[in-house]
Parts: sequence; C-alpha cells; structure tokens
Amino acid sequence: MKLTPFWTDNFPRPADMPTSVLPEQVEVAIIGGGYTGLSAARTFAKSGATVAVLEQNQIGSGASSMNGGLVLTGLKEGGPDLVKHYGPELGRELWEASIEAVHTVQRTVEEEQIDCHLTMNGGMMVAYKPKHYDALARSRDWTARELDYHEEVLIPADKMRDHLGSDAFFGGLLDRIGGGLHPAKYVYGMAKGAAKAGAMLCEQTQVQRVNRIEGSTDFTILTSQGELRASQVLVATNGYTDTAIKGMKRRVFPVGSYMIATPPVSPALQQELSPQGHVFYDTKNFLNYFQLTHDGRVALGGRNDLSTDLDLVESATNLRTAMTRIFPQARNLPITHSWSGKLGITFDLMPHIGQIEGVYYAFGYCGHGVTIATYLGQQVAKLMTGQITRSPFVEVHHPTYFFYRDKPWFLPLAAAFYRVLDRLT
Ligand SMILES: Cc1cc2nc3c(=O)[nH]c(=O)nc-3n(C[C@H](O)[C@H](O)[C@H](O)COP(=O)(O)OP(=O)(O)OC[C@H]3O[C@@H](n4cnc5c(N)ncnc54)[C@H](O)[C@@H]3O)c2cc1C
Repeated sequence: MKLTPFWTDNFPRPADMPTSVLPEQVEVAIIGGGYTGLSAARTFAKSGATVAVLEQNQIGSGASSMNGGLVLTGLKEGGPDLVKHYGPELGRELWEASIEAVHTVQRTVEEEQIDCHLTMNGGMMVAYKPKHYDALARSRDWTARELDYHEEVLIPADKMRDHLGSDAFFGGLLDRIGGGLHPAKYVYGMAKGAAKAGAMLCEQTQVQRVNRIEGSTDFTILTSQGELRASQVLVATNGYTDTAIKGMKRRVFPVGSYMIATPPVSPALQQELSPQGHVFYDTKNFLNYFQLTHDGRVALGGRNDLSTDLDLVESATNLRTAMTRIFPQARNLPITHSWSGKLGITFDLMPHIGQIEGVYYAFGYCGHGVTIATYLGQQVAKLMTGQITRSPFVEVHHPTYFFYRDKPWFLPLAAAFYRVLDRLT
C-alpha cells in the first residue's frame, strides 16, 4: 500500500508545467497554488493584469490534487439552512452561487480543454438512518417549493439498487446537477490555463511575510526565493493557511480528510457498485464519500477524527471497514493507496471572501472546494479588478473567536461531540 494520493500517482505533475522564476514586481501576487489561487490567477491574467502565483511546494500540492473529486451543488449547508441562517434573499443568492459554481467548473474544463474525466451523472446523498431519509424528503420538497430547484430526485430504499450496489442505506437524494472528476488532472489543467493566459507560476516559493510599503498602497512580499512588490495580494491557502500573514490563521482552521483507493475492479463489479456513475456521500457528520474512478477503482474518503496527522495505515484500516460495510462485495479487495489532506473550516461553516489590512483572502470551503473554490477564485479576482462590485460571500460576517489564534486545540472536543451526535441523531 502506498501512503501517497492515488490521483497524483496515477497522474503526476506534468513535466512541462510552465513555471517562472520570482519576478521583482507584479500587479497581483497570489499566495497558494490550488483551485482558488489558480482560478483567480486565470481571471486576473485574462483581464490583462500581471499576476504571480506563489506556491510553497508544487502547484496543486494542497488539497486540490488529492480530494474525492465530488462536484456538488450546495455549500457545507444546503439550501434550506442557507435561507434559515441568512434570510430569503442572501440565502437564495448563496444557494444559486453554489449551482453557478458547478457550471463554473464545467466551463473551466471546456474552455481549457482539461481532460479530467468530468462526468455529470449526478451526486447522491445517501441516508445512513431511516429518519435521515425523511429529512432528505422534507429538504427536497422545501428546495423545490422555496428555491424553484427541481433537479433533486428522491430515491426510496427499494429502488436504491438501481443507483448503488449497496444495502447499507435507507434511500437517497439524487441531485442531477453533480458528478465527479480527477482532481489532479483538473488542477494541473487549470494551472496550464492560467499560465497560457499569462500568469506566472512560482513553485517552491514560500511566502514568509507580507508588509505594506510605507507611504504607498503597495506591498512587499518576502518569500523563500527573495522579495517581490505587488499592488494587490490574495491569500488562497485554505486548510494550509499559516501565520505568514497576521490575523489570517484565526479565520480558518485545518481538519484532516482521509482517503483510500483499491485496484480497478472488473467491469461487471463496476456496473454493480455504481450502475449510473453517480458520486456518493452519506448523511453522517463523520461522513463517507466515494466514487468509482475513471479506471474503475473504489476511491472512498472520510475520517473518525478531525486531526490532520492520523496514522495512514490505521486510517486505511478504518476506511476499509467503512468500505466493506457499504460494499460487502469488495471485502477481498486490497487497498493500494492511503492518503490525507487538509480541509479549511470556518466557525460558521461558510466560505468567505474578505480583507485584512488590504490583503484579500478567499477560503473556508469546508469540504466543498472543488466547485466553490473554482468559483470564489473567479469572484474575488473580479472584485479586486472592479469587474463586479459585490459578492454574497463578502456579505456573510466572518466570525473569529478569542480562543483560536494558532492551534485548534478544540478539535478533539468537537470530534467527541460529533461522534455522539452521529449516534443519537
Ligand atoms: C481528502 C480530501 C477530500 C476532499 N474531497 C472533496 C470533494 O470530493 N469535493 C469537494 O468539493 N471538495 C473536497 N475536498 C476539499 C477541496 O479539495 C478543497 O476545498 C480545495 O481543494 C481547496 O482549494 P484551495 O486552492 O483553496 O486550497 P489548496 O488546494 O489546499 O491549496 C492551498 C495551497 O496554499 C499553499 N500555501 C500555504 N501556505 C503558503 C505560503 N505561506 N506560501 C506559499 N504557499 C502556501 C499550500 O502549499 C497549498 O498548495 C477534499 C479535501 C481533502 C483534503
């Protein structure tokens, strides 16, 4: 078993990735080379701005090359909760942005001709308990009535086998606007698209400090490769946010997400496990998410804990138990890969666009970043260049708390709470 992501093992960073040396001056410096940073860079470059992406490792080395590849509508919260928490207007706007985010992924793939196996066969939330199915039914009705969204189809337990080769769930909610992709191929394709538009991609360039130049609106950015000057700075570091920029780390904390992959299964078993090629996730707080990869492997993720440094062999054993509970047919399959990455979580479970002392940021996708990071990257770049004047993701207040500055010491407590919740609700 390899303790590295299946996706980058299957498709490593292309040797012809167009990288640049650190320039002396740009209009926009972007910290972080994942979906957010690259999507923003592509938008800036297309608007004619000089832009450099500063990535401490290789392009895509954060969550963007190693995630589950689920392309889903909604944020961490679905439509009903968004409206409940933010009111009918802002709530609807946030929900509609989440649908637009799916289309943004589709457009990016099309425009840049990224061969990342994007298939839009639907995303299905599967009910872990019978009462979860009732809640899915209520949510579907509400969303159709209040948000005019008619893409969700309720699948009762006795029809589940038409969609998923498992008897572990009590029905599901299929969203026809959803699907899956190969995350590493997507991020490298997006990077090439950004570079083609004129963005400079600077790898092995760790940002250590950002300072405003006295008497100017410009910034100096100190990196491991030297210094550069920029008129605007965007932080796009999500779950990998560090203390390089004062106040940033308080706004987002890292939570580990863990995955395993099996070898390709036979075409007959692929057909049995996922007859319609959907992607899946369940209704637990400690949820499992899974899809069949383009080459017919089971790729399944989840966690028993919120920490970022669980042992990958132990985590593979736990995820294998989850996989065989869902798919007893797969119990003899070996695990070929076990890996983990960091999600960026905010206290209100919402993505945010904001500023700290003139430095912009976009992060906090809470596990939904394939779509919403692509979208927010574009949105924040359009805001910063004046192509748009507002975004609902600026208007949602971004909460911080005195008890978190650097170390998320509260995660074990939160994990215990969610474990109890999963047992009781
Ligand atoms: C295992 C796993 C499974 C997931 N599954 C899904 C899924 O199925 N569907 C979905 O929608 N979302 C999923 N996600 C979430 C999704 O992958 C992320 O939300 C998304 O990739 C975030 O993109 P990003 O560009 O904001 O951040 P990242 O891709 O994490 O990139 C941040 C980058 O910032 C760089 N960086 C940090 N600090 C510095 C610095 N000081 N200087 C320079 N560079 C710096 C890091 O090296 C990193 O490359 C999953 C995440 C994980 C970890």
